[in-house]
Amino acid sequence: DNGKRQPHIVFLPGCAMGHLFPISELAKFLIDRHHFTVTFIHFSEYANKTQEAFLSSLPSSITSLYLPPIPLSDLPEDSAIETRLSVAAARSVPYLHSLLLPLLSSTNLVAFIADIFATPACEAAKALKIPHFIIIPTNLLFLTLIFHLPALNAEFSCDFWELEHPVILPGYPPIPGPEILHLLQDRKNECYKWMLEHAKRYREADGILVNTFDAIEPEAANLLKKEEPGRPMVYTVGPLIRAHAAASEEGTHCLKWLDSQPTGSVLFVSFGSMGSHSTEQLSELALGLEASGQRFLWVLRSPIELKSAGPDYFTAPSAANPLVYLPEGFLERTKGVGLVVPSWAPQVDVLAHSSTGGFLSHCGWNSTLESMARGVPMIVWPLYAEQRMNSVMMVEGAKVAMRLIARKDGIFDREEISRVVKELMEGEEGERLRKRAKELEVEAAAAMIDLVRHQ
Ligand code: UDP
Repeated sequence: DNGKRQPHIVFLPGCAMGHLFPISELAKFLIDRHHFTVTFIHFSEYANKTQEAFLSSLPSSITSLYLPPIPLSDLPEDSAIETRLSVAAARSVPYLHSLLLPLLSSTNLVAFIADIFATPACEAAKALKIPHFIIIPTNLLFLTLIFHLPALNAEFSCDFWELEHPVILPGYPPIPGPEILHLLQDRKNECYKWMLEHAKRYREADGILVNTFDAIEPEAANLLKKEEPGRPMVYTVGPLIRAHAAASEEGTHCLKWLDSQPTGSVLFVSFGSMGSHSTEQLSELALGLEASGQRFLWVLRSPIELKSAGPDYFTAPSAANPLVYLPEGFLERTKGVGLVVPSWAPQVDVLAHSSTGGFLSHCGWNSTLESMARGVPMIVWPLYAEQRMNSVMMVEGAKVAMRLIARKDGIFDREEISRVVKELMEGEEGERLRKRAKELEVEAAAAMIDLVRHQ
């Protein structure tokens, strides 16, 4: 009897680890608390060693299946990764159908949950009458923007970056056009068209799950969590963050170093799983950190000029030894005050460590949530994706972060970096932001308890 079997859920994660992390947290939560079993269906193009290692660390009640490789050779070579994923999702429907069909008869399959750019794949679930949901690994700001995209598209004909006035979205501070999601900055790009398509499909879903918590974007939460004709219910299910990073020798070294630093004294400097800088910017950052006189733990990647856009773009550790790109004598001069680690640190553990007092971050959404859940205020340094608009929300909306002011050529120079780092770590503004971060830490913890209570 199907009804008596454990409920089963199928997730279709996208490509980046930043999406797989929160999806896995949600899966684990459903397994632990509600005795679900789970299948992940992956696009085989994006399978790689980092992903495999991570998947093998998950509970055995999560099974991974792989779609066959989906030919995309007809797409222009410079197609955005999000376009490729959208097209792959559309072409995956017949294969998904054949993977879902046996699951439908062998399990109590209650829902199909597709990642943010994989919406066309929902056709397979629809045809089989399986309720389908979308999971947004980022925030309500993203969802609000996408819901408003068709109207904004009709309202003006230039690109967002050309707008003279900021974009007004309900519940948020005004967002200057150039800070809007990078995928929407060129109307002629296929990616923009795909986002309009996703906007339509978000409205057709049976529900939308968003990895955020209400206190961080309260007005939007209030608006979107109400029932409204023409769009599905929106559920805030965050912060979905890992309790600990995977153990490693390098990780232990970072944490040991933090153990020997004074409470709240260390600035953590990290730009997500992919972020890197030009050689010039990297050097200014090093000299700015040094000039600030503050303690720091810096996850360093090789300069962006060396980065290949190959298939392992999302996971490859940066080429060779990034330490050689630091200014001459930097490591000796900052010895004891700073620790530079190549490519990767156990971020969730670093942020939870009592010695960590600030986070210089690219404002990726996982990083932002991880920082807030640990009450750590931020300096925002957005690089790509929706990080620019996240930054606006964290600085002007949630008021828990400060920004750097760039020179005319776009570089953040050492004087500016030093000034802002000092202000965050020992200034009055830093103190105010720290208090606010502590408030959000309490709210984040309450949101997680709420999730347990209400499911
Ligand atoms: N991360 C980490 N160590 C690092 C860099 C990143 O553990 O040195 C993790 C981080 O904790 C977060 C994820 O990688 O969970 C990055 O996700 P985010 O959304 O912040 O940025 P993205 O990598 O997607 O740009």
